[in-house]
Amino acid sequence: MFVAWFEEAARLVHRDRERLTRLDAAIGDADHGTNLDRGLTEVRKALTEWPPESPVQVLTSAGTALIRRVGGASGPLYGSVFRQMGKVLESPVTLAGFSAAFEEGVVAVERLGKAAPGDKTMVDALAPASRALALAVRDGVGVGEAFEQAARAAAEGAEATIPMQARKGRASYLGERSIGHEDPGAASAALFMAALAAVAP
Ligand code: ADP
Ligand code: MG
Repeated sequence: MFVAWFEEAARLVHRDRERLTRLDAAIGDADHGTNLDRGLTEVRKALTEWPPESPVQVLTSAGTALIRRVGGASGPLYGSVFRQMGKVLESPVTLAGFSAAFEEGVVAVERLGKAAPGDKTMVDALAPASRALALAVRDGVGVGEAFEQAARAAAEGAEATIPMQARKGRASYLGERSIGHEDPGAASAALFMAALAAVAP
């Protein structure tokens, strides 16, 4: 499932790379789609060349590839989500364990980027997804439904960045002119969560 997650994320980002770059053109430097597409191509290559033996290895290998190959700010940020998840994910993997590890991954991004919800970044999609997962665990929801809810929360979170003024990253240089555009990193984070829902066991 973990390999399939990154394969599907790579497919969705490749499919939507022009949309992501267009969003970044509006409030950044027009490279988010190409950055992430290149990074996820490298992730796929790494997962093929060194077949991982565990979910932890998938996360660590993917995170490392993203840090090395993305180039933009989003590379180290996504890399830290997955590497942190890999550090704390317990085996055998359960929904509760996944949710706890994802939550720590999101905390790692918030710490690295010094970003909080409302700053108009990928955190605005990742944090609601994490919260949705935790609620699903609390309510005893099945894995498929839990990942669906997380994907929905991320998509809503991404859309909710439109009226926000950016306080972190390149878009913050625009001040009020960043208002009215969806944050590209929040949009790509929603794709990562959509990919997760698509590969749920
Ligand atoms: P760059 O801004 O270096 O060109 P990308 O275009 O690949 O990098 O990624 C931009 C995205 O990265 C933004 O849309 C935002 O979601 C995210 N981002 C940038 N800075 C931060 C930060 N400090 N904290 C969290 N996310 C950030
Ligand atoms: Mg950019």
